[in-house]
Amino acid sequence: MNRPYNFSAGPAAMPEEVLTEAAAEMLDWHGSGMSVMEMSHRGKEFGQIAQEAEADLRELLAVPSHFKLLFMQGGGLAENAIVPLNLSRGETADFVVTGSWSQKSAQEATRFCTAHVAANTQPSGYTTLAEPATWQLSTNPAYVHICSNETINGVEFQALPDLKALGCEAPLVVDFSSHVASRPVDWTRVGLAFGGAQKNLGPAGLTLVVVREDLLDRALPICPSAFNYKTVADNASMFNTPPTYSIYIAGLVFKWLKRQGGMAAMEARNIAKAQLLYDAIDGSSLYINRVEKHCRSRMNVPFYLRDESLNDAFLVGAREHGLLQLKGHKSVGGMRASIYNALPIEGVQTLVSYMHEFETQHA
Ligand SMILES: *Cc1c(COP(=O)(O)O)cnc(C)c1O
Repeated sequence: MNRPYNFSAGPAAMPEEVLTEAAAEMLDWHGSGMSVMEMSHRGKEFGQIAQEAEADLRELLAVPSHFKLLFMQGGGLAENAIVPLNLSRGETADFVVTGSWSQKSAQEATRFCTAHVAANTQPSGYTTLAEPATWQLSTNPAYVHICSNETINGVEFQALPDLKALGCEAPLVVDFSSHVASRPVDWTRVGLAFGGAQKNLGPAGLTLVVVREDLLDRALPICPSAFNYKTVADNASMFNTPPTYSIYIAGLVFKWLKRQGGMAAMEARNIAKAQLLYDAIDGSSLYINRVEKHCRSRMNVPFYLRDESLNDAFLVGAREHGLLQLKGHKSVGGMRASIYNALPIEGVQTLVSYMHEFETQHA
């Protein structure tokens, strides 16, 4: 079957091999006589699936042993509340606002603690990142929050900030929802990282939390038990029923990532894909990306047509060329190509040649 290329920002394209495997195992997983979605989360079959998923992810992302890996629910937006409930102690947490998602995180935290905005690139239209040295961190924040890849604005931290070098001992909290598993992570700089699965790991419904063990026991008394990191960790992510089918599919994605060569290989591929698309945009007189080059996202590439009256024609033509879900987020308009791990370079090549063809026709 020749499937179109899917540029959705999330829920997003899945590796075709994974879909094929899941289809083959749908009615009977490994001779168990059950579909994975029919299994008890406490049975031995699902236990094996969950353990392998966790071990494979730990290996892929090189997560050190003093971090817990939690499979939760609620998505990135729920984590905007769950993190302050667990880590803020009701005191002050710092937020580096670099786009729509970190802005939302800061806003939500005000329900549980004092949210201090240490930097805000909104005046630039979120087209740049503030240098860590310019951040106005508070004296002793409970944690410092960043969104390491702003999915809507297309801004990405190319390196995580070193808070210690800034004289700050607080843990760094990273929303890595939309670029998790696209590149290696420097865990020495991280206290906690979270991400919804539906961008780059698997289906919606699963939320990954990677948390340093010493941060597990700081929750506010009002924190719901099912969202208390220590409770979740003590019960190996089975305090309540986890999103079993999403964990299974994510586990197949992790095995696929290992077959591709792991994070180093994925990073190289993602760099090549992004380069191809940004070069096409920068080299054209119809398309424009306004993000400063040093912080352009490898995963989410927003771009505009200089003549916005062509937007609809562009999208109709894209669909005819087998290029789906290129419409930009409603808050910023224009176009957005999300080119996560599962989107092969052939997809980007097809997009670039369509963009060129469209530009020639409308010159
Ligand atoms: C998609 C996204 C979220 C929100 O995820 P939900 O699962 O819809 O709650 C949060 N942060 C970032 C960076 C995202 O890309």
